[in-house]
Amino acid sequence: MELYNSATHRKEELKTHTPGHVEMYTCGPTVYHYAHIGNLRSYIMEDVLEKYLRYAGYDVNRVMNITDVGHLTSDADEGEDKMIKGAKREHKTVLEIAKFYTDAFFEDCRKLNIKTPDVVQPATGCIDEYIKIISRLMDTGYAYFAGGNVYFDTSKLERYYIFNDHDEENLAVGVREGVEEDTNKRNKNDFVLWFTKSKFEDQALKWDSPWGVGYPGWHIECSGISMKYNGEYLDLHCGGIDNAFPHHTNEIAQSESFLGHPWCPHWFHVHHLNSEGGKMSKSKGEFLTVSLLEQKGYDPLAYRFFCLQSHYRKTLVFSWENLDNAVAAYQKLISRIAALDPQDGAVDQAQFDLCKEKFLQQLGNDLNTSMAVTSLYDALKIPANDATKLALIADFDRVLSLSLMEKAQAKRDEDSRAQSAKTASGYTITGEGDPAVDALVLQRYEAKKARNFAEADRIRDELKAQGIEITDTKDGASWKRI
Ligand code: AMP
Ligand code: ZN
Repeated sequence: MELYNSATHRKEELKTHTPGHVEMYTCGPTVYHYAHIGNLRSYIMEDVLEKYLRYAGYDVNRVMNITDVGHLTSDADEGEDKMIKGAKREHKTVLEIAKFYTDAFFEDCRKLNIKTPDVVQPATGCIDEYIKIISRLMDTGYAYFAGGNVYFDTSKLERYYIFNDHDEENLAVGVREGVEEDTNKRNKNDFVLWFTKSKFEDQALKWDSPWGVGYPGWHIECSGISMKYNGEYLDLHCGGIDNAFPHHTNEIAQSESFLGHPWCPHWFHVHHLNSEGGKMSKSKGEFLTVSLLEQKGYDPLAYRFFCLQSHYRKTLVFSWENLDNAVAAYQKLISRIAALDPQDGAVDQAQFDLCKEKFLQQLGNDLNTSMAVTSLYDALKIPANDATKLALIADFDRVLSLSLMEKAQAKRDEDSRAQSAKTASGYTITGEGDPAVDALVLQRYEAKKARNFAEADRIRDELKAQGIEITDTKDGASWKRI
């Protein structure tokens, strides 16, 4: 597979330490609040990547952390801890907050057909790992103790900035506006590996360590968890683009200094989903969640479809209009699949292989999901019977996970229910082909027949509230959206 590598700034073949096997790591959520749909864009694209690798024949071990300790508000390892902030906001303990939002995160993932990684490890469960790494970094001179905390000494590295040619002065922690410089640091980009003293409010969760009772910094958890479950050689590290600096940069610094050899050659970064006003943020009051989409009547999988329509390396702008367009395209696609007859012949293997080959190529080319979606439409157009087309759709959906077969079958069932109800009553409904509306129109007819005019009027009003107007005809009714 050709995949863009942020560490080398080019598209390159994914090479793995063990042929045919991928050790993959994903930075997991910070469980202090619901995930916003921007966070979930990253997890959707990473999910497609994992499923594609499996589909293409790799054996994958995917590991993800849950940040339930030590994520400070600012990138600069300064500021109020997000978990403590969440606990205060909701008058709960940090662990209660972590449990609640971890469950909420996986519930969102379930609704978006995002597979749970093979290993999911909360950061609080690996304290010994971090202590082991930090101890060696202290012994080998990569870390130092100052003012009660242990810091990584970035001046010990030949190359610190991996992902960009950063201007050190602009990025340096101490010179950022509003961030007070930590005077314990020897160099501006040094970062905390272990806290026993923070000038900000203390952590609720603390552990004993050779440097005193305290808690880990954020970056060390991903290195520790990955090395524990992926081993010393990681093949592919994933995360949102905002994690490239300083989080991933610091992960590389500490992991390679600890291991004494290169750690992870390939870095996959998903670009952001922005709102029309700019960056998505959880601090600005109401923010976009999967539940909010559902409350507004959207199918979470239409959001997944929306994400797949664009490339992971492009910033994606969210607007309701853009989402509505995706909903319309998704529903139309389902209708086209529903119109295929599963009983129509046997699968034409030659046509199947030809079409599948193209799909593999599209995703194998830097995970081009929008072209992979186009492959679904191509499958509908091939010169073959319906059974072949359906077999292709089902096969591609192993990677795209849009529940296309299930939704198409549900549509077929619904259509046939509406159809048989229509035929049974000899009542003809002409409309815009929406079985839910047809069913209500039919219910109104049944109510009228039973002389339950109040119910018939109620249904007419309900449809009117949905912007639908019914007109009675000679042998039934017709409806339209107004
Ligand atoms: P967090 O819960 O803040 O640790 O973030 C979880 C994941 O979402 C990380 O991989 C982030 O890089 C990613 N992320 C944060 N904001 C966005 C966004 N607006 N669009 C896409 N991914 C994001
Ligand atoms: Zn991480």
